[in-house]
This record gives sequence, structure tokens and C-alpha cells, in this order.
Amino acid sequence: MEGHQIMARRVNPRRPYVVTPQGRKRIILGAQDGLRDVLQSQHAAARKPVRSTQPFERHMLVLVHADRGMLDEHANQAIAAAALLADSATGVAVAVLGGVSGSPDELGASGADAVIDLPQLDVASFGPERVLAVAQQLIERYQPVHIFLPDRGADGDLGRRLAARIGCGIATDVVELDAAVACRVVPGGRFARCALPRIVLLARNAADASLPFLGRGVVEQMPLPDAAAQPGVRDLGLETSAPDQIGLEEADFILSGGNGMRDMDIFGALASALGAATGASRVAVDDGRFPRAKQIGATGKTVQASAYIAIGISGAVQHLQGIKDCRHVIAVNLDDSAPIAKRANLTLVEDAQALMRALLPKVKAARAAAGA
Ligand SMILES: Cc1cc2nc3c(=O)[nH]c(=O)nc-3n(C[C@H](O)[C@H](O)[C@H](O)COP(=O)(O)OP(=O)(O)OC[C@H]3O[C@@H](n4cnc5c(N)ncnc54)[C@H](O)[C@@H]3O)c2cc1C
Repeated sequence: MEGHQIMARRVNPRRPYVVTPQGRKRIILGAQDGLRDVLQSQHAAARKPVRSTQPFERHMLVLVHADRGMLDEHANQAIAAAALLADSATGVAVAVLGGVSGSPDELGASGADAVIDLPQLDVASFGPERVLAVAQQLIERYQPVHIFLPDRGADGDLGRRLAARIGCGIATDVVELDAAVACRVVPGGRFARCALPRIVLLARNAADASLPFLGRGVVEQMPLPDAAAQPGVRDLGLETSAPDQIGLEEADFILSGGNGMRDMDIFGALASALGAATGASRVAVDDGRFPRAKQIGATGKTVQASAYIAIGISGAVQHLQGIKDCRHVIAVNLDDSAPIAKRANLTLVEDAQALMRALLPKVKAARAAAGA
């Protein structure tokens, strides 16, 4: 055998994989994306196992704000982090501030064992003291080992206030974690590690929200403290900003134009009738129809709107990169095989100019009726 080398065939662990109903990762050799999608949808249809059927001795608590009854990817990642770290004797209790619409099955799919639905604690009403009182009530009820929140906006604020109120350790902007250690990036691109504290605020994408198991998804009730008990806080209400006064990254509704969108006047009129911020593809920017600050994509802005309407945009990979976090994408395109149609939740195969002309009076009429 001297002089012979045995060449072992190695499998790249980052190759496409599916999670089997038993919760195992199966790497698909030679699979193309299309095949992977088919396999994934077959496995999604097969029921995953419930993470634990034992009685729970302790809990992890997750506090998340919902947006109009829905949990976004970042919120689901915080729930997934708790579920992945929980052992079989540890339950995952999820308090949804602002309330969530969804069946127990859907809630269980996020990894939640118990869901405490709190529709009264909506982000639209500013009540930090009331929310803190509820969080403390939840801590008393579940005695959580760790408390997880997404590190953003109202959730990040709540986590920091809670740490100060109950006097416990907190790690913010956590990018990596295991049962013992939390890790964050510090200036200079280095990692700083600490023992996993009681409160953990997670950066986006710190955990993978697609779990190989289910939580129990049991909805539990909890009485709320009096709404009036808000010492030192005065709620002045929400103020709506004009779409062009906020950054595209923060816009919730974007009307975006590409090479197939030629009528700038009607595009502008439609955006203002809809109350949408405007964005553009790189070709439309390079053409001089939009300023560079409006470019969305790999070399432009990354947006996370609830609704993104792409008019005459093909959906090149560089553009899709910029809209990966948008919730609903609507495409208007003459070509039903354009890549944007794969990403869009709804594609209208129509001439951009004709569609905008038809839509504008309807939007104006709907606005007038709503105002009246
Ligand atoms: C390094 C690099 C970085 C890049 N970064 C970005 C980036 O950040 N953002 C970005 O957007 N692009 C970026 N690009 C460019 C990208 O590859 C595409 O060229 C660009 O996104 C295409 O823009 P478009 O879809 O508007 O135009 P086109 O590709 O010309 O597509 C126009 C679309 O409009 C449709 N259409 C035509 N006429 C009509 C009509 N009358 N009614 C309805 N639909 C119609 C067509 O069917 C077509 O799908 C980058 C490219 C490179 C190489």
C-alpha cells in the first residue's frame, strides 16, 4: 500500500440540507435549489416532533412586541434561541406584547410552549411602567432562568429597563450564544464573551428561526395591572412622519421603480396618494431618474418594509438582496417569468404605466372615503 493515498470523500456541512421529521439534518448531495425547495415543502408538511413532552420544572421567558398581530423574523429568532437552549425539563414561555393572531399550531411552530397574549400592550401606546410591571409579574410566575428579547426598538428598551429594575446581568447585541456563554462584537471587529446573563438581548440573525421541532403552543391568560398606574409618564401619542422625512431603511411602505417604470409624474402622484416612500433599482438610478440615495439593493439600501411594491423591476439578485427583509412584496411586470415574480407574494402581469394610471384614482377615492 506504500505510495497509495486513500482519498476520503468529504461532505461539505454547509451544503443544502433538509431537516427530517425526526429532527435530523440531511445533506442533499448534488441538490439544486429547486429540488431542495420541493424536499423542504414535503418535510414541512410532515409533522415535526414536539421538543419536550415532559413536565416542565423551569422556564425560559421571551418578551417580544408583535407588529399588527405578527411576529417578525427577529422576534422568531429570539424564541428559537430560547427553545434551542432549553433542555427537556425547561419550557419556553413567550409573552407577546401587542397580541398575536395565529393558531396554537402556528405559535408552537415558533418554538413557544406557552404563549401569553397581551394585545393591550401595543407599541402604539407608550406605557413603559405598565409593561415593566407585567414583565415582573411574568418573572414571578415563571421564575425564568434566562429572559430573551430581540435587541431593537421597544424590545431593546424593555430589556434594558427590566435589567435596571430587577438588578440583574444583561448582555446586549448578542451575536452568538450557547447555554453558558454570550458573545458580542466590539469595536475593532473583535468578539467579547461573557457568561450567559439572566437577560439576553439578541442581534438580528443570532439564531436560526427554522426549528427542527415544535413547541407546545398553549395559550395562557394573565390579568393585567391597571392601565392608569404610570407614575412619571405622559403618553403624547404617535406622530406620523411624511414618508420622505424618514430614511428608506425605516419606511414601512415603499413604492419602487425600475427600468420598466417610465412615467415619473404618475409614479410620484401614486406614491403620495398611497403615503409610500419611494425607492428604485440601480438601472433607474443610473439613468438619472432617481437620486443615488433611493437605490435599493446590494450596493444601495437594505429595506424592511411591511409592503414593497416593485414596478418594472426585474428582481436581479443584487436588488433582491436589499429587500430580503420585506414582509409583503407586490410586483408589477410584463414578464411573469422575471425573477421578482419568484420573490413576490403577488405579481400583476401588466404594463407599469397602465396599472399606475388605473390605480391612482382608486387610491384617491379610497383615501377620500376613509377620510370621510
Ligand atoms: C456589483 C453590482 C452591484 C449591483 N447593485 C445593485 C443594487 O444595489 N440595486 C439594484 O437594483 N441593482 C444592482 N445591480 C444591478 C442589477 O444587476 C440589475 O442590473 C438591476 O437591478 C436591474 O434593474 P431593473 O430591474 O430596473 O432593470 P431591468 O433589468 O432592465 O428590468 C426591467 C424589468 O421591467 C420589466 N418591464 C419592462 N417594461 C415594462 C412595462 N412597461 N411594464 C412593466 N414591466 C416592464 C421587464 O420585464 C424587466 O423585468 C448591481 C449589479 C452589480 C454587478
